[in-house]
Amino acid sequence: MAVSGIEIFKQLPKTNCKDCGFATCLAFAMSLAQGKTELSLCPHVSDEATESLSAASEPPIRTVTVGAGDAAAKAGGETVAFRHEKTFVSPTPIAILVTDAMDDDEVGARLAKMDDLQYDRVGLTLAADLVAVKETGGDPAAFAALAARVSEAGYGVILMSSDEACLSAALDGCAAAKPLIYAADADNVDAVGALAQTYACPVVARGSGLEEVAAVTEKLGAMDLKDIVIDSGANNLGAALADQVRIRRGALSGAAKPLGFPTIALPFEMTDDPMQEAVIASALIAKYAGIVVLSDFDGATLFPLLLERLSIFTDPQRPMATDEGIYEVGGPGEESPVIITANFSLSYFIVSGEIESSRVPSYLLVKDTEGLSVMTAWAAGKFVPDEIGPFVKKCGIEEKVSHRKLVIPGYAAQIAGELEDELPDWEIVVGPREASQLPAFLRSFEA
Ligand code: SF4
Repeated sequence: MAVSGIEIFKQLPKTNCKDCGFATCLAFAMSLAQGKTELSLCPHVSDEATESLSAASEPPIRTVTVGAGDAAAKAGGETVAFRHEKTFVSPTPIAILVTDAMDDDEVGARLAKMDDLQYDRVGLTLAADLVAVKETGGDPAAFAALAARVSEAGYGVILMSSDEACLSAALDGCAAAKPLIYAADADNVDAVGALAQTYACPVVARGSGLEEVAAVTEKLGAMDLKDIVIDSGANNLGAALADQVRIRRGALSGAAKPLGFPTIALPFEMTDDPMQEAVIASALIAKYAGIVVLSDFDGATLFPLLLERLSIFTDPQRPMATDEGIYEVGGPGEESPVIITANFSLSYFIVSGEIESSRVPSYLLVKDTEGLSVMTAWAAGKFVPDEIGPFVKKCGIEEKVSHRKLVIPGYAAQIAGELEDELPDWEIVVGPREASQLPAFLRSFEA
């Protein structure tokens, strides 16, 4: 079971020196208990406390990193079964498959999808994360060449082979990129575990059922290997979902410590139908696959999975927020309209999108409302005249425009009078209630 913030606090120096970046030891302890920071950030904690807290503050499901540098993707680190209890922390890495049976063009086309199928959404770039390189021909040189090609192109790699010579040859060329070795099982655990030790790479423990998987993870653990990902061997959606739930529950309750690792799921082995494969991946991302490997994808299958992942792994207790400041849309000048909105990300992206489509270059002022939308922020006292006034004066917009007209959202019309008192040099103009009406409003607007 995870240790509480108070229990962690008791073992900290309690000097409130702020060297960890937190204002107090208690704030640091609370954040550590939630898995949001690392004990190593406190340089003053005693060796004895470090030993006891390191073990106690580790999440029941280990965080495992696949890949290195910009290509690194994390799986695991989860502490709850349901996202309303606490946020899920490691968005499920999605991998595309390439094999040594594919010709160069086919491999190139799949790698191109990794770059081409990227989507900007609420300020984030959504994309697939890893490439699974599968050996099918038993040729170490061919497998190693393919693995090197993928890793040199900058992608995180999963090396999939049941042939130890092939795995070894591939690791010789790309171990520095920290590929995930797939897989150690009951028959080859000593040999594949030795490869993971030699090359210091994460490794998959595979079994036919959870008992067999647990036996493999225990053997890998005895070899001092900690970065383990598990594959229960389920080959259909029902069995895979049941295993995922049992693994998560067992790890969280502490009843199945050998299963306290992220999982890998292979929807491409469960069906030949691409759309069904995407549906299976969707179910497994929701519950609780650490990594999913797809045979292939296109925009129609990848984009919904990325959006689903974004929804599931967004902290439901923390609204998505845009940074406070002045945003220039369409290259505005000193005569351009000035519009203000709240920093709820969706508000920002909808409003900026409508301004863009109006083709009226404008300044968009985004006021920090802690991620709340205009109406909620107004009700919470964060989008009110005595908050907006000082922001407008200090943000620098007065140096950028020659006029003094500020457009506020129609939903905030009730603050117009008081805002004019706060900003006596400005004329407050009430804009439309709906962002979709902004283009027509802006086209007829005269600053
Ligand atoms: Fe407390 Fe350590 Fe943070 Fe200093 S660095 S405030 S002692 S937790």
